[in-house]
Amino acid sequence: MEQELRERVTRGVALLEEKVGSDWSDQVDHPERFDIGSDSDCVLAQIFGDYESGMECLGISVVDVEYGFTLGYKERDHFGLLNSLWVETIWPNDHETCSACGEKHHKSIDWYREEDFSVICPNC
Ligand SMILES: [Zn+2]
Repeated sequence: MEQELRERVTRGVALLEEKVGSDWSDQVDHPERFDIGSDSDCVLAQIFGDYESGMECLGISVVDVEYGFTLGYKERDHFGLLNSLWVETIWPNDHETCSACGEKHHKSIDWYREEDFSVICPNC
């Protein structure tokens, strides 16, 4: 699944570069609440105002899962993985990995820090 989702995110990035420009990731300006599974905090919502407007501007629909902006109904268990892939794409040097669930989030979220410097995300 990971390879498939990586390919989808690559397609989504190409579409954003084409329609928004090479600086599309600079417009994702709320890294602390980034959530690809949320209509109001996903990559499209942060760039276009909300998820629906984003799809409209990009000329895609909710069934076009191949761009990695959402998942199919039976793929819902993979939102954590999809979120991690977007996070490492948008903030290659500014994310951390939760030592409990393995998901990646921007470094600015409210991490719990262990004595050995490993970090636990707020979802765990
Ligand atoms: Zn976690």
